[in-house]
Amino acid sequence: MNHDFEYYNTLLVQSVGGKVGPIAPTITPSAAYGYADAQEAEGIFSGEVNKPLYARVGNPTNAKLEGIVAKIEGGFGAIATASGMGALSMVTTALLKSSDEILCVGGFFGGTYTLVNETLKRFGISNSFCTINDFDYMEQKLSEGVKMVLLESVGNPSLRLPDLKAIADLCNRYETLMVVDNTATPLLVRPLDLGADIVVHSTTKNMSGNSTALGGIAVFRAVKEEGDKLLNEKYADVHKFVKKAGKKAFIPICKKRAIRDMGMTANAFGSFLTMLGLETLALRVERINNSVAKVAAILEESLPEGIEVNHPSLAKSEDHARYLSDFSNGCGPLLTLECGTPERAFRLLNNLKLATLTANIGDNRTLALHMQSTIYSDFDEEARRFNGVTEGLIRVSIGLEDPEAIAEDFLQAAEAV
Ligand SMILES: *Cc1c(COP(=O)(O)O)cnc(C)c1O
Repeated sequence: MNHDFEYYNTLLVQSVGGKVGPIAPTITPSAAYGYADAQEAEGIFSGEVNKPLYARVGNPTNAKLEGIVAKIEGGFGAIATASGMGALSMVTTALLKSSDEILCVGGFFGGTYTLVNETLKRFGISNSFCTINDFDYMEQKLSEGVKMVLLESVGNPSLRLPDLKAIADLCNRYETLMVVDNTATPLLVRPLDLGADIVVHSTTKNMSGNSTALGGIAVFRAVKEEGDKLLNEKYADVHKFVKKAGKKAFIPICKKRAIRDMGMTANAFGSFLTMLGLETLALRVERINNSVAKVAAILEESLPEGIEVNHPSLAKSEDHARYLSDFSNGCGPLLTLECGTPERAFRLLNNLKLATLTANIGDNRTLALHMQSTIYSDFDEEARRFNGVTEGLIRVSIGLEDPEAIAEDFLQAAEAV
């Protein structure tokens, strides 16, 4: 199902705002909640009574955000977390255990790469990596019984565009969970519609847009009462949740196996700020995705020799065909500049007047950063290469400014390199 921006413009303001009483979402800043009587307490803890229990496992402001993002993604339920890494930690630790293997497809955001390759590994969860089009390897790994496939809708900063539908079909054939990090492309692709099981976002990025709130969220599909892949023998340790909670089983799986014990919960004020951002998400995503293509085209035409712009909207991109077919409204706010050497990249960055140098993406302002010396500084050469990071690579996240002014800033900065 491909919804247009007008659908989301209506959905977002209508679902964030209240119709009667307070228009803005209500912030509930209480850590604990009183129960009417002992029986109600028992009901709340068993899940039969749907009222707040304690803020580590849920909060009414978070619940409102969860309902809205579930609608955006066409999901059945969602859990808001303290950060995007919190969402990824929650999903992986709730569904995997020591001796399981996770298959990672394509290049990753730095934190996700180290989560899988260092932290989860320390707890006995092994991993394998392959490039986005290596279907033979994926099928081999799936047939060997990997428990989860993890990928980004758009590689950050590799900008590779995976065939989400084909990968989902393969995961479904082998009854294996597919988790998609959709941080870069909210409203642009809906992985759950294509057959994925879980979508995660860093809401810190596009969803808030204004750099006020760190946050993350995981969105889940409904679990089928019969024949669901979660009932496959390899997921035996979560079968009791499916039996008890049916369709919404992913929620207690994540709450009881991660949130309750590790506490990567969102806070009410952060969720409030995220919802303020959400009201204008469709306007911003439409504007920014048009601007990215415009800026990429101007830079391709006019950058001096020795500096190259990369973006899937450009005909030279290896994923141009998929950009046209699967990402028809754009593939997010990023483009990259290849400057050849770190020295040239530093000079270009230091010449910029409009862009802000920072490690964020999806902001209302245009941002830029040299990858190798920052987010990927403690990665070895092979890991950098796999994640698409060359020594002269600058990642740019396009903002709401006049696209011609943005292009002009990068052109003047490049001239002096
Ligand atoms: C930023 C980011 C994350 C991590 O999110 P935080 O909110 O910073 O924890 C995960 N995935 C992608 C693609 C990101 O850009």
